[in-house]
Amino acid sequence: MKEFHERLHKKYYYLIISFIILLMTAGLMIDNQIDMGFVIHGTMVFIISTCLLLYPLYENAYIRYMTVISSTGFFYTLFFLYPETWSDFVLLCFIPAFSILFFDKWLFYFSLVLNVLFIGITFSYIVWMDKGVLYPYIYKDLTGNIVNFIASQILLYFIFHLTDLRMQKQRVYYEQVQQAERMKTTGQLAAAVAHEIRNPLTVVKGFLQYYAEDETLKTKQNFPLMINELDTAEHVISQFLSISKPDREGRVQNVDVEIVLKDVTELLSMYGLLNDNSLQLHVEKECLVSANSIELKQLFINLIKNAIEASPETGSVSITADQEKGNAVIRISDNGRGMSDEEIRSLGTPFYSLKSKGTGLGLMICYNIVEKYNGEINFQSESGKGTTVTLLFPLIHA
Ligand code: ADP
Ligand code: MG
Repeated sequence: MKEFHERLHKKYYYLIISFIILLMTAGLMIDNQIDMGFVIHGTMVFIISTCLLLYPLYENAYIRYMTVISSTGFFYTLFFLYPETWSDFVLLCFIPAFSILFFDKWLFYFSLVLNVLFIGITFSYIVWMDKGVLYPYIYKDLTGNIVNFIASQILLYFIFHLTDLRMQKQRVYYEQVQQAERMKTTGQLAAAVAHEIRNPLTVVKGFLQYYAEDETLKTKQNFPLMINELDTAEHVISQFLSISKPDREGRVQNVDVEIVLKDVTELLSMYGLLNDNSLQLHVEKECLVSANSIELKQLFINLIKNAIEASPETGSVSITADQEKGNAVIRISDNGRGMSDEEIRSLGTPFYSLKSKGTGLGLMICYNIVEKYNGEINFQSESGKGTTVTLLFPLIHA
């Protein structure tokens, strides 16, 4: 549910959940005496509320299945506790709809199968045991109710299927956009990289030509120099590849923020993307975070490039990293043109750019990368004074 397409703010999630919990509690309190039914109903409300409240903290499959199982249990409990409330049957038909919100295919199928199984048991109970005493509205037209139930499950399946197809398309589109933005930076770097490689190659070639003419070839004193130059060329190429390579596997590792920041600042300053600006990097404490290093690089490059592009010709950009309250905190500050509150609100919107050659995709990608690794991103800015971007990522303790 927390993927890129659904930036449903935690604040809204808790607001909606509080409302749902309030409704469930009201349902428990109204028209109820304290008996066994009340205790069972209350326990179900408690379990389901706990699952819903804990979900944003863990967001794993286990808690998703727990939520779906407990909500299934909850609605069947209501159905059996209050047989006179015939509308409970309608709720039973819609149980799999909750799992659609989690955008998890297998969870939806699980919920659907579970619901069909439970309704089978429930109808058998009504036909063989109850014989329509408590549930006359089901017993009297059993076939009609079964048909309606099946139709509702098929309807839910189609809604899920169409939503899922749309999401898959969006995901592919997003990956393409991310790759295109990466290629843009790569394109800018390519010419500079070629230039950097030509220098060491010229040195090595010069020596080789010299040796070619020397028929005795006794001296090897320049070999270390040549190897050194080739090492430089190799380093340049591997650095270049480290950001241009598409990373389909998206391997998540424990990444040292300092190493990534050093790589990025070195990359940007070596290849003249800084103009006459300077970068100041200061890392207070070692910060290990769980992320994909190429995506983290892409995030920092986007933010630092924005800071440089907003700065005057000789302005400087400061980058700091530190630990604060269990988080890695990275700040990127510039003394550039700054932004108004209105502009800050538009950040991260696809294609929002005030630059003549901007794509307006950089920050959208940054927001998604930050969100993917449970981080936070904040912009503090004043028009004409400058901007500070603050990034927060949960720390990993090695
Ligand atoms: P692009 O860089 O291609 O324009 P981004 O998504 O990276 O797209 O940025 C969107 C817009 O946000 C920029 O065009 C710029 O107006 C604004 N912006 C981003 N970072 C800064 C900054 N540090 N200072 C001032 N404006 C900024
Ligand atoms: Mg940008």
